[in-house]
Amino acid sequence: MTRVHTSDCDLPAGVYPVFPGNRSLLGHVWVTLLTEGGNYYYLRSERQPMGIDYSQLHDPNAEYTMRDLSTETMGITNERGQGRDVEITDVQTTMVDGNFPWTLVRIYTDAGITGTGEAYWGAGAPELIERMKAFLQGENPLDIDRLTEHLIQKMSGEGSIGGVTVTAISGIEIALHDLAGKILELPAYQLLGGKYRDEVRVYCDCHTEEEADPIACADEAERVVEELGYDALKFDLDVPSGHEKDRANRHLRPAEIEHKASIVEAVTERVGHRADVAFDCHWTFSADSAKRLAKRLEEYDVWWLEDPVPPENHDVQREVSQSTMTPITVGENVYRTHGQRRLIEEQAVDIIAPDMPKVGGMRETRKIADLADLYYVPVAMHNVASPVATVASAHVGAAISNALAVEYHSYELGWWADLVEEDVIEDGYIEIPESPGLGVTLDMDAVEAHMVDGEELFDEV
Ligand code: MG
Repeated sequence: MTRVHTSDCDLPAGVYPVFPGNRSLLGHVWVTLLTEGGNYYYLRSERQPMGIDYSQLHDPNAEYTMRDLSTETMGITNERGQGRDVEITDVQTTMVDGNFPWTLVRIYTDAGITGTGEAYWGAGAPELIERMKAFLQGENPLDIDRLTEHLIQKMSGEGSIGGVTVTAISGIEIALHDLAGKILELPAYQLLGGKYRDEVRVYCDCHTEEEADPIACADEAERVVEELGYDALKFDLDVPSGHEKDRANRHLRPAEIEHKASIVEAVTERVGHRADVAFDCHWTFSADSAKRLAKRLEEYDVWWLEDPVPPENHDVQREVSQSTMTPITVGENVYRTHGQRRLIEEQAVDIIAPDMPKVGGMRETRKIADLADLYYVPVAMHNVASPVATVASAHVGAAISNALAVEYHSYELGWWADLVEEDVIEDGYIEIPESPGLGVTLDMDAVEAHMVDGEELFDEV
């Protein structure tokens, strides 16, 4: 039995059996009270450090690293002036239930200026961001590169080579760009070296309920071109045809390849003169099947064929890409420049497709783009994000010469554009904002309306 302070709830003072709750990933503790009348009451705590207070964590790996990039260890003491002596005070996350659960990130400073970013969706990102907060507090947010490298070094024992640790760092890195831009009163693309273009092309990821029906796909392609104004599309090609004998062995039977060709033919013939169309295979097929499929599609105007084989084996990836005239795109499941390096250097891709808020952030994507450019490889940024990271990807797209397009993956979600106050995608393009930082402002009413259950809004400044 535990005495519960009931002054903050509508229960009479008293003693209740308490069922202690778990601390959720979202930073709250839920406890259950049982009254004498048999009624259950659920109490939620205010936002707290998630799970455990990571600033108190005994972690020799992170507490002591010989290569420590903190301000203190690096001996960075010079005053910067002009309002640039700013310190990070807090980092918070809020998860929004979009067509993916988007993790929004906000960094607070002692100057009263905040920066907002977004980590690619997935479990664990909020907790990892909470875990890294202690490495950021007291640091100057203008040192984006050093702080990102600092986090990678500090988290090297916890997976900063790839996976959700990199995703969490990406969300912080994007928020740092928004913050630095606001402090310096510059748009984020300017921090990446300036721009090549005012607008970045957007391609629309398309779906139909009859995804295996070539005519339904062609109808949807036509609708998206004519009604939504896109001239760049993508359809899934890893759809069951009814000819499968086994869904695990990655093998494509001739009838399956013909079915996929019929989808490609129907869509490209319907809109091919008005739109570029890519097709995604989601790392599904065997090497031999991928080669036969890619060769079969050579007669159509395919913008690219995406992830026909799994991304791990570069030898196979290269063999598939070099076997066909159909352009092959890979990259959304690979992390950091190190992860993309062999794909590019071994000429295993025709178009590289990093997911900016997953791969390491805005500067990391620029580094990948620069490496790709040495091999004359264009960049089509994979993206399933809210408007926050979508605009951030567009800033990167503005700043690199080899930007092909940025993906938009939420056209079935009616309120995607409501999440920020500004217009983002218009007529199939994102015009790069000229206001400081990312140039978009969260609509807090929309965020609140679509938050994951149990989540809270960011604290006000
Ligand atoms: Mg894909």
